[in-house]
Amino acid sequence: MENCIFCQIIKGDIPSAKVYEDDEVMAFLDITQTTTGHTLLIPKKHVRNVLDMTDDIAKEVFARLPKVARAVQKATDACGMNIINNNETIAGQTVFHAHIHLVPRFSDEDGIAITYTTHEPDFQALTQLASHIAKEVV
Ligand code: 5GP
Ligand code: ZN
Repeated sequence: MENCIFCQIIKGDIPSAKVYEDDEVMAFLDITQTTTGHTLLIPKKHVRNVLDMTDDIAKEVFARLPKVARAVQKATDACGMNIINNNETIAGQTVFHAHIHLVPRFSDEDGIAITYTTHEPDFQALTQLASHIAKEVV
């Protein structure tokens, strides 16, 4: 797609530090390097984000995720990794070509904090919500 920065990276019109490529996907270093080795895995077919992915594109991307993640982990000697995906502006998406962030982790103090609110669960509400979501799975 024209004007898509990641489509331009796939075409080679914009340079990138590539770590993996095949017919369906490409992985390259994120320019921000949140931690050393921060990598983006993207489908070659332009799709806005996971919410718009077909099963086929999802298979292409997610089937490659473990091997790219293992390579990043081995090469950087990371202790662990956050695998993050942002969908739409409210969730922090800034580039609207689907991508998975692989962020290697080296210490508690490398500046990344993912926190979840903890409170007493309302199991009845959870059951109702789960059933509501389940009906939308097609
Ligand atoms: P998002 O915020 O959409 O989840 O992530 C977009 C990511 O793309 C950001 O982490 C940003 O640093 C990265 N990015 C934006 N432009 C470029 C670019 O031209 N080259 C590379 N390698 N990464 C980019
Ligand atoms: Zn694109």
